[in-house]
Amino acid sequence: MAAYDFSAPRLFVSTALGHGLHVTLDRAQANYLLNVLRLKAGENVLVFNGRDGEWRAELAIEGRRTAELRLVEPTRSQTAPNDLLYLFAPLKHARLDYMAQKAVEMGVGALKPIFTRRTQVSRVNRERLRANAVEAAEQCGILAVPEVLEEQDLGPALAALEPDRLLIFCDEDAPQTNPVLALESVRHRTLKIAVAVGPEGGFTQEERALFAARSGGLRLSLGPRILRADTAAVAVLALVQAVLGDWR
Ligand code: SAH
Repeated sequence: MAAYDFSAPRLFVSTALGHGLHVTLDRAQANYLLNVLRLKAGENVLVFNGRDGEWRAELAIEGRRTAELRLVEPTRSQTAPNDLLYLFAPLKHARLDYMAQKAVEMGVGALKPIFTRRTQVSRVNRERLRANAVEAAEQCGILAVPEVLEEQDLGPALAALEPDRLLIFCDEDAPQTNPVLALESVRHRTLKIAVAVGPEGGFTQEERALFAARSGGLRLSLGPRILRADTAAVAVLALVQAVLGDWR
């Protein structure tokens, strides 16, 4: 297999990838490759679809607006998505875009918006979240685009978790202990993990009780300062990946 071509752009496509196949690009993708990146015919593009691994393709141009990619060879085989579920109270636009992209870069397998009492938005745009997930996956060499699951209120979302899934709940009011040791203490438990981060306004006492009522959860402190929710997302996912996940 050819050495990995980090300079080639990566594109997420929905069609099947295989020897001898080609990918017809939609207008947005053709515009991106032809007019934004100004690629020339024959140049390499890496494509992935979340199922068939990643392939090197060559650009074939039919005109200024239409182009297709001819698959040449597989560059990486498909990996299974991480079984790391990220539960989060949706934030307002730019910060939500940022948080979704960072969660994907940090290796979550699925994102699930949860509505809590102090969540400041009343609805969530799942297509926008999915577009952020695809963009982060394209930019970070990720092969499986994390799913964006349907939003739910906190109670039903917790009730829907598999019993053997370890729930790590970031609580700004948690007594401060070393988060690395806290995570080490549950390392033996399971590889199925859910991480929950609250809204700008934090969790309520009732919500803390919901988390506490679920056996086997871990109430995690992220240090002596209150972090903004999008900062907490990166902080907790770094700790979880380093101690329990695929950074080890
Ligand atoms: N009252 C603060 C709370 C925001 S915290 C405010 O209005 O800005 C947002 C979320 O980030 C919290 O619900 C928690 O999930 C997480 N978080 C922030 N700081 C934390 C800390 N020091 N320890 C654990 N979780 C924290």
